[in-house]
Amino acid sequence: MPKTDTTQWRDLFHEVVATGLCTGCTACIVACPFHVLGYEDNEPVQLQEDGVDVCTHGDRGCSLCTLACPRFREWESEIDELMFGQVRRPEELIGKYREIYLARATSPEALMQGQDGGVVSALLIWGLENGMIDGAATSVLSDERQWDCEPAIVTDRSGVLASAGSRYTYSANPLALLKAAEMGLSKVALVGMGCQTSVTGAMEARRVNKWRKKIAWTFGLLCSKSFTYDGLMVEIAQNELGIDLDHLVRVNIKGKLLFYTDTGDEITYSLKQSHRFTRPGCLRCPDFAAEHADISFGGLGQEGGWTLSIVRTDLGQEIWDRAIAEGVIEVTRAMDEDPKAVELMFRLAEKSRERWPSHEELATAGSTPGLLPPKPETD
Ligand SMILES: Cc1cc2nc3c(=O)[nH]c(=O)nc-3n(C[C@H](O)[C@H](O)[C@H](O)COP(=O)(O)OP(=O)(O)OC[C@H]3O[C@@H](n4cnc5c(N)ncnc54)[C@H](O)[C@@H]3O)c2cc1C
Repeated sequence: MPKTDTTQWRDLFHEVVATGLCTGCTACIVACPFHVLGYEDNEPVQLQEDGVDVCTHGDRGCSLCTLACPRFREWESEIDELMFGQVRRPEELIGKYREIYLARATSPEALMQGQDGGVVSALLIWGLENGMIDGAATSVLSDERQWDCEPAIVTDRSGVLASAGSRYTYSANPLALLKAAEMGLSKVALVGMGCQTSVTGAMEARRVNKWRKKIAWTFGLLCSKSFTYDGLMVEIAQNELGIDLDHLVRVNIKGKLLFYTDTGDEITYSLKQSHRFTRPGCLRCPDFAAEHADISFGGLGQEGGWTLSIVRTDLGQEIWDRAIAEGVIEVTRAMDEDPKAVELMFRLAEKSRERWPSHEELATAGSTPGLLPPKPETD
């Protein structure tokens, strides 16, 4: 007889995947000890042939996939309670935090390779070289599709620098934890957008200990969305803008999409026009500011070359203070230096919060089950 007192893949499938709340972070796939789930089109899929929602291990009481999921049921309040001892108030749009800074790497290579101030890369290199971490789950350019990206584990300076910079298609960095385990790593820095950095807290709050204990640091990236590869790289970059991807050196978003080529050209595209290519897994994501990271990082500074950094946890503060003391990064308080960047972050965070369904919508979607209507995007 199926057990009914625990949650399992069937619940996760109907409440998170079928409703459109799934971001494709892959925590469920990592946590599943029976290899029941695979990953297709940025979503978990059932690999057994008994039906989309049948899991014999779940019927026998396994609930690990639902426990690891950072969008299952009361995920946000459970993780908030665990990390901060209290739940975020609605007006705390960017989540709980201690201080917001503008920072940049002191090393020229991290500054050069990084998307903004190279702070994420500088901290990873420093952490690896000082034994605070033994690997980082990041994203690298894909070998298969030009300017697509995929999860990877990096363990040294050259690996970190090769993975620096931002790609705006989706890379499910938590999936690289599987590789980290194969490599025998036990102090991994998980880098990723909010949908991915809430994985650490979900795993700790619900005791998915085997995987939680492998994550040493959790670094978040501010994010309002990622794009489908066919939309961003094929339709917009190649078909509409005529960019040869062999000559593309950097992509950025600063109020508009910016494509930089090796001949020094900057080609822009309206963000509004690009909404049609938003990746479906982002349409319901409420977390712009990676609220459950130790430190979150974004590129909202009015001046280029700085990373807006939100220190949130005791661990984040410890990393931050040591990195400053050891000259890894240079830092100023964002509210003193660039209050407009902080205001913009709050505005963008407010927009993302509107995406999460109301209690009524969730109740209907969970019991029907049926798809939640996608929220229209606005600029
Ligand atoms: C999809 C996406 C959307 C973003 N949207 C915003 C935004 O709207 N506003 C904002 O202020 N900031 C946004 N950011 C964050 C910003 O682009 C920078 O990552 C951040 O400012 C840190 O800069 P840095 O120079 O310190 O990082 P770097 O030193 O360049 O390190 C960046 C890290 O991000 C990882 N990474 C790159 N691309 C991806 C990816 N697709 N998925 C997962 N990991 C990746 C790299 O492997 C690297 O470890 C976004 C980032 C991404 C990836």
